[in-house]
Amino acid sequence: PASEYAALKQELRGKGIKFLLASYADMHGASKAKVVPIDHLDQMMGGSEMFTGAALDGVPQSVHDDEVAALPDAASCTVLPWQRDTAWFASDLIYGGKPFEACSRTILKRQTKAASDLGYMMNLGIEAEFYVLRDTPEGVMPITERRLNKPCYDVSMVLDNKAWLTELVDFMNGEGWDVYSFDQEDGLGQFEIDFMYADVLSMADRYVFLRLAANKIAQQHGCFASFMPKPYQDRTGSGAHFNMSLGDLATGSNLFKDKNDPRQCGLSELGYKFTAGVVRHLPAICAVVAPTVNSYKRLVKQGSMSGFTWAPIFACYGNNNRTNAVRIPMGGGRIELRAADSACNPYLGAALVLAAGLEGIRENLDPGEPNRENMYLVDPAELEARKIQMLPRTLGEALDAFEADPLTKAVFGESMAKAWLDYKREEWLSYMAHVSDWETSRYLRFF
Ligand code: GLU
Ligand code: MG
Ligand code: MG
Repeated sequence: PASEYAALKQELRGKGIKFLLASYADMHGASKAKVVPIDHLDQMMGGSEMFTGAALDGVPQSVHDDEVAALPDAASCTVLPWQRDTAWFASDLIYGGKPFEACSRTILKRQTKAASDLGYMMNLGIEAEFYVLRDTPEGVMPITERRLNKPCYDVSMVLDNKAWLTELVDFMNGEGWDVYSFDQEDGLGQFEIDFMYADVLSMADRYVFLRLAANKIAQQHGCFASFMPKPYQDRTGSGAHFNMSLGDLATGSNLFKDKNDPRQCGLSELGYKFTAGVVRHLPAICAVVAPTVNSYKRLVKQGSMSGFTWAPIFACYGNNNRTNAVRIPMGGGRIELRAADSACNPYLGAALVLAAGLEGIRENLDPGEPNRENMYLVDPAELEARKIQMLPRTLGEALDAFEADPLTKAVFGESMAKAWLDYKREEWLSYMAHVSDWETSRYLRFF
């Protein structure tokens, strides 16, 4: 009925909104939409906005297929902080009246349903790390010019950037995201903004929006935000650590917390089972949470001004130490997937991780003792004794793991799994065929 959204329309008009974006996330987790004048809010909410699937990356459709439609979620309505006459809505895609197979948001919703069938809800907090850079006549430069060997937490640097940071943080707080800190991170020009966890779907919506907002706000200050996972060989990369717990669907209480944990990490038995499922599927998970060629240049131990990159290289879990792919941060009650990077599609990543965790619960898996030492320094014989494998070293290896792991098809659906693999294999092959400066400088005059 036309009146269904009357209150929403009135509220948005009151805020000065003239345009709406029926936005869905593409396979990369980027926002895609048509702009709809507010007079058409009712039609838009009913699914009037259509998209040609074949025009999009990784959508298993051809030119003669019907269009897919966006079904906006009213609860996700967000006013663009840099353009206050426009409101954004996260949407699901439908096709022929049914959920569309290549919609990442729908893929995540299938897993949240599986969790709620078991009485759980998933909480997710994503730590947003990114570089802020500017174009100069000398090329792209970090926004921060002062040279320090260890710029991490530098007060002067973060204060120099207060203008755009304040704008971004004010917006996040205005939306109720509850930012609790932000800082100059380990790499020169790198920042991190930490905000309160939420239910997994809202958090994925927020992370997609945040990448857009950070860029648009930075642009207005003459710079840009880069979510490339490893923009510089000699600085730390940008992670998007997934902090996760399951809550009781009825009471909301945290089911991952246990003060009396015999393994002394503050994690419950349920949390350990979930962890074991995630560790079991880590190689395939990497293909999704570290989805680019460049992602694998982040998952190394050296390549940072401070000595370590803080990025994981082994498929294992541990206590508070930061060299494990899955870490139980101090105090427990949650686990942190450190393999995830800033280029990930948070819906697909969270869907696969949640499915893996639920598998761990259903199968009563035990992840063994947590690794407590600096994994970068453990010697190979010891790694072998503990049966610890390396994470995939390249996108190619990760895609092999994705293809070999039946869970990926179960979570993505056959056709989306194939579309994803086809797209990503092409990305990998195109990179493999590229002859880089490194190669020419090393081999051109070798003999
Ligand atoms: N930037 C690091 C990464 O690539 C993480 C640093 C941290 O622990 O905050 O994952
Ligand atoms: Mg960090
Ligand atoms: Mg972290």
